[in-house]
Amino acid sequence: MIRGSCHCGAVKYEIHGKLLMFAYCHCPDCRKYSGSAFSSVLATEADGFRIVAGEEQLTEYQSSPGKNRFFCGTCGCRMYLRAAHRPDMVFIRAGSLDDDPQMTPQAHYWTSVKAPWYEITDSLPQHPEGFTKK
Ligand SMILES: [Zn+2]
Ligand SMILES: [Zn+2]
Repeated sequence: MIRGSCHCGAVKYEIHGKLLMFAYCHCPDCRKYSGSAFSSVLATEADGFRIVAGEEQLTEYQSSPGKNRFFCGTCGCRMYLRAAHRPDMVFIRAGSLDDDPQMTPQAHYWTSVKAPWYEITDSLPQHPEGFTKK
């Protein structure tokens, strides 16, 4: 089991399922939403993902049709994303983890539209587009 929480501590979650993917996403949505060069996204099975505290604090934002991003309404911490075309998965913002997932990011996605001011200096595979179909 892997735990995570928002910055103010109101919202807490647990991951009981398998970790399916861990990657950096450089898409413009993730850049705007995170306020940074990229987001660190950990995908897990929706069945094993549980909000265990502060569900009423969670605020939902539809960033594009079928993509719903969830954040803490008090502290603004970005926590996870649900995609209508992948109802079996939850995409967690890894910055909200409290425990070590025992896995590290495997790739960069959407590098064709990454921030021009950010240079990728590691040797992970770089994909010009995303890991899920639009
Ligand atoms: Zn919070
Ligand atoms: Zn993205």
